[in-house]
Amino acid sequence: MSKPSSNTNEYTYQWNPETYGDDSLPILKITKSSFMGFKWCPKKYEFNYIEQKPQDTTEAMYQGTLVHNAREDFFNEFDIAKAENLSSDELLNYCYTLFPLDEMSYMYETIASFEANRFLDAKEEGTLDSFLPVINEATLNAKFEIRREDFPTIRLERDYVVHLQGIIDRMFEVEEGYIPMELKTGKYNHSSKASDMRLEMAFYKLLFDNATDEDIEALGLTRDKQITHWAWFFPKNNVMHLEEVKKASTTALLKRLANLVHAYERGVFPTDYKPRSCPNCSYYSICDEAQSTGWL
Ligand code: SF4
Repeated sequence: MSKPSSNTNEYTYQWNPETYGDDSLPILKITKSSFMGFKWCPKKYEFNYIEQKPQDTTEAMYQGTLVHNAREDFFNEFDIAKAENLSSDELLNYCYTLFPLDEMSYMYETIASFEANRFLDAKEEGTLDSFLPVINEATLNAKFEIRREDFPTIRLERDYVVHLQGIIDRMFEVEEGYIPMELKTGKYNHSSKASDMRLEMAFYKLLFDNATDEDIEALGLTRDKQITHWAWFFPKNNVMHLEEVKKASTTALLKRLANLVHAYERGVFPTDYKPRSCPNCSYYSICDEAQSTGWL
């Protein structure tokens, strides 16, 4: 995985908006994970990112790390010349052997089958040169200005430059442009998950659009192409969703970024109690809302 290109002392989650403008102090760091964490529950964000209270490592997190590492290795090791001469069955077997032997094998079978089919389609269409991703787990950084006048209902005190950072799982290049593809190891339900996935993908697009030309070129990308589509892959129930970039998702993302900054301005990170999921939160025992509501 490529390393962040910027000095990490320049940005922080322990940010004080009152000192904004002092160039000797760090600006606000917003990663795709911290942003989605704030969206999930601002209080949990405060515990996790600002107060840096440790979280439990769940089985789901552990499995997610295994699968992400395995898929990264798959693309690093995949040999197009070798695969081109294999039969369908041999290709499927070849794809499967590129994954490790561990408890996530049932998921690797789905991913291997998905990639073998994608390879056969690319071979038939003569697009094998775009089978491998142009980005395979890479960190992208960008500075972005959140302008007060763009969010009149939020009433920010001023404009703020923030530091965005995200790890792009995979980015594919096609004739029309780039397609980032996010891997998730949970179960996909379009009606409940699509809007969150669009926010995540819009975050990547914002990163790409605002990264320096130098950083873009260092990743082997070019400014001559734009992100035109985005996709997500949920091997647990074998769903791959591809769609054109949605401007409304970028608008929603920007508003939520402004809300995050405004929470720092006010010093208020409210709870967002959810009866079904909060009992699994690492901070359940120290969360006032959970302790007062959860026992009712
Ligand atoms: S228990 Fe629920 S409301 Fe409390 S911090 Fe965790 S996610 Fe937020």
